[in-house]
Amino acid sequence: MILSLIKRVVGVCSLALAVSLLATACVPSTPATGSGIGVVATTTQIGALVRAVAGDEVRLTVLIPPGAEAHDFEPDPQAVKRVHHARLVLKNGIGLDDWILGTVENAGGGARILVVTEGVQILTSAAGDEAGEDDPHVWQDPENVRVMVRNIAAALTEADPAHASVFAAGAAAYDARLVAVDAEIRALIEEIPPQNRKMVTNHDAFGYFMARYGLEFVGAVFPVGSAGSQASARQLAALSNLIKAEGVKAVFAEEEVDPRVARELANDTGVRIVTGLYADSLGPPGSEAATIDGMLLANARKISEALK
Ligand SMILES: [Zn+2]
Repeated sequence: MILSLIKRVVGVCSLALAVSLLATACVPSTPATGSGIGVVATTTQIGALVRAVAGDEVRLTVLIPPGAEAHDFEPDPQAVKRVHHARLVLKNGIGLDDWILGTVENAGGGARILVVTEGVQILTSAAGDEAGEDDPHVWQDPENVRVMVRNIAAALTEADPAHASVFAAGAAAYDARLVAVDAEIRALIEEIPPQNRKMVTNHDAFGYFMARYGLEFVGAVFPVGSAGSQASARQLAALSNLIKAEGVKAVFAEEEVDPRVARELANDTGVRIVTGLYADSLGPPGSEAATIDGMLLANARKISEALK
């Protein structure tokens, strides 16, 4: 079984790269919505927070479309035009979306670039070759998201002081929502027997979630920094042994990254595969996971259901 897993790895690697290149090159950014100062957000998470803080009082463009992984992205010409006209460009930082710097330079215009994760306590990855590198998936912990909300509200207020009271009210309301969601998630995780609170994931994107809610990270198929390069065959074989030794109950895969190797790992070890977690992207508009609070709750319900 392990041998077939190893054989698959070689083929899947280049395929995963081809698929991710295709996905990043061909998917256009979501059209701008709202009216007011031009604001560009790199990720779906930042876009959703701008909406929570500002409602429709800014003209918002979100560059990465829902369902795409965030580590490699190439904005289309339309997006470059919007960056040119933007007052403010909001980025995640921590190595996730540095491609935006080139876009801003090419676009020209006078946009101010703000890293919205300033002040967040950054964790490092625990997986594979990338162990020790800064983990950009900070939105998986609502306490970090509260910091992002404050940063976004401050930046919007500075760029558009006339709407200061709108931004302050939006930020306060969403802050309260995040506090409530944190308690709901904690209750869901407490339903899992302590010895079952262990996670193996497809892409190493849930470090902040696991740290906040006391889940133990056992391993991941893809390391934290890129969803295009996965763990080596030897690391996968070791992970397979760990799953058996630790009595891990499920392997979790997310919406954005090819789950085939994760599925094989689950088959090989005889544990459940749970698909559909939201790692790098929120869900499409109108879905339960179109907001950060909705996404966190949707993930927590799946994790709780699978492990308890
Ligand atoms: Zn990721």
